Order: sequence, then structure tokens, then C-alpha cells
Amino acid sequence: MVFEDVLKQFGKNTVLNNLNFSVEQGERVTLIGPSGSGKTTILRLLMTLEDLTGGYIYVDGDPLSYAKRDGKRVKLRPKEISRIRRRIGMVFQQFNLFPNMSVLDNVIEAPVHVLGIDKDEAREKAEKRLEQVGLGDKTNAHPTQLSGGQQQRVAIARALAMEPEILLLDEVTSALDPELVKDVLGVLRDLADTTDITMLIVTHEMQFARDVSNRVLMFDQGHIIEEAKPDVMFTDPTHRRTREFLEAIL
Ligand code: ADP
Repeated sequence: MVFEDVLKQFGKNTVLNNLNFSVEQGERVTLIGPSGSGKTTILRLLMTLEDLTGGYIYVDGDPLSYAKRDGKRVKLRPKEISRIRRRIGMVFQQFNLFPNMSVLDNVIEAPVHVLGIDKDEAREKAEKRLEQVGLGDKTNAHPTQLSGGQQQRVAIARALAMEPEILLLDEVTSALDPELVKDVLGVLRDLADTTDITMLIVTHEMQFARDVSNRVLMFDQGHIIEEAKPDVMFTDPTHRRTREFLEAIL
């Protein structure tokens, strides 16, 4: 994934300015930085939940929402965008499950309706996914009958059911009671250990970031001010703002 000269403005507020970075396939990259520094906006741009004001994002070489054609920046057609966008899954802070559907139906909804996979096949795969996140016995439950941690694990299974190349994790444990955080992070650790899925992670769980990431990017006011391997970033950061930020949250 490549961000090239990315500009994002909300009205007059420039949130990301001339942002350039790339993430290799299979890499796990954590974005840290103060609230409002633009981390979530980066994930939302990748999910095409926000429109790019300027620049380009590429997924495995394919432009995501704008392409360069004859020296011009042109918006891609919705069909082209959704083809690329399908390769990316996201898990949100607030689970965002469909409350009126069973756990299983939550997981098979997109594979059946977006990818057009046969329902029986989707069900079989979904059951495997749910086992993978430790919820093999909850397929018929409804989200309201589950704890927050279980709901978040359903959301992870749902994202994985689309077999994404890239998984975006936006503060996935922030809404959970402390005792439920461990199980969710355990599932994500397993995923990191057993697959080569690319992960872009926004989290305040620094131990988790340290354990799973290859690289940490420190954001401040829409810029990457420091980039390092987790061992270095969390023990010996270079930038004063990084030190202050880490001292405040650790
Ligand atoms: P972070 O994830 O680092 O906390 P965000 O990406 O959520 O930061 O926000 C970056 C900035 O963009 C903030 O100033 C925020 O107010 C602004 N912002 C985010 N989403 C919107 C929106 N939909 N409309 C207007 N401003 C927004």
C-alpha cells in the first residue's frame, strides 16, 4: 500500500498534508500519535469512507480512488473502486455489527451479497472463522447476547470472511472493559502469527503494538514525525514530541 502526496481537508481544516508512506505486503504497521493527528482518517481513506482531497493511494500498485491519466488526476468509477476496496477489511472501535442478525449471518452477509459466494460455502467458511476467534459455539446467538469482547471477535471474523489482503484495526479494544481486551488482542496476535495478512493498526495498547508490529509511525498534526521499529520507538524515541506522547500514555 502506498500513500503518495496525500492531502485531506475537511472544509478549511487540513488534516493530512503531503503525506507519503508505504506499507509492504505482510507488514504490520502501527500508527501512534495524539488524538486528532489524522490516524483514523488514514484508515477511513483506505476504506473509501472519505474522499481524497489530493494525491493518490495505491493498493498493490492499483490506484484506489483516483488515478493519473494523461497527466490528470481522475476519479475512478465506483465499480473500479469497489474492486480494490474489497481487498481491505476494517474493524472499528464500535464493532458495527448488524444487531438484528445472528452472529453467523453477520459473518456471511458480505461474502454472499458482495462476493456472490454460495450460501452453504459461505456458512462453512464462517463457522471456521468463528472457531478461529473462539466463538464456534455462538453462531446462532445475536450480538446483543454477547459481551463487547465477543462482539469484537465477531467483527474480526466478519472482516476476515472477505479474505482481505489488508486488515485495518481502529482502536479495536478502546470500547472494551479491561478484562475483555486480552481475548481480542489474543485473536489478533494469533492472526499475526499464523497469516501474512498486512495490518495497519491504530491502538493505544502499546504492548500489543510492540508485540505485533514491524514498524511504528508517530503522527503529529497530519505528519509522520518519526518512524522506527517498535523496540526503538518505545524505548529510545528520537523526537521530543514522541517522548512526550509516550510518557503521557504509558
Ligand atoms: P486521530 O485518529 O489521530 O484521533 P482523526 O483522523 O480522527 O485523528 O482526526 C483528524 C482531524 O480531522 C481532527 O481534527 C478531526 O476533528 C478532523 N475530522 C475527522 N473526521 C472529520 C469529519 N468527518 N468532518 C470534519 N472533521 C473531521
